[in-house]
Amino acid sequence: MPEVRELYQELIVEHSKKPRNFGKLEGADHEAVGYNPLCGDKVTVHLKLEGDVVREIRWEGSGCAISTASASLMTERSKNKPRAETEALFAIFHKLVTGGTLSEEESSQLGKLAVFSGVKEFPVRVKCATLAWHTLRAALEGTKSVTTD
Ligand code: ZN
Repeated sequence: MPEVRELYQELIVEHSKKPRNFGKLEGADHEAVGYNPLCGDKVTVHLKLEGDVVREIRWEGSGCAISTASASLMTERSKNKPRAETEALFAIFHKLVTGGTLSEEESSQLGKLAVFSGVKEFPVRVKCATLAWHTLRAALEGTKSVTTD
């Protein structure tokens, strides 16, 4: 389905050019820095937790289009969500980009994140797509930095 693929690529390009929630977050109570040495992508995630809910989240960094678009979409999806929900979503997303089999229920939860399904054909890009999510998890766990390996 080439049309669908083009549409997906458009969303990635759009988010990489105009990343959402980009910048510093004053008064952040959780932060982590992520680095993907394979590609040189860097992502810093800042967030404010309220109980178990990610109330505010912003990110900074630089990298390829996939890592930038992924960080942008990650912040959109995790804002105002309980961290357990975000952890569950990351597990599904990880399965998607590594070529795992998703149940219908899992696929339905992806929403826009489905644009990254093409990544599974490019194993070297998997770290680009997952870096922001690994960094978010590190921030939530209170780990200050994470390097994909
Ligand atoms: Zn990259």
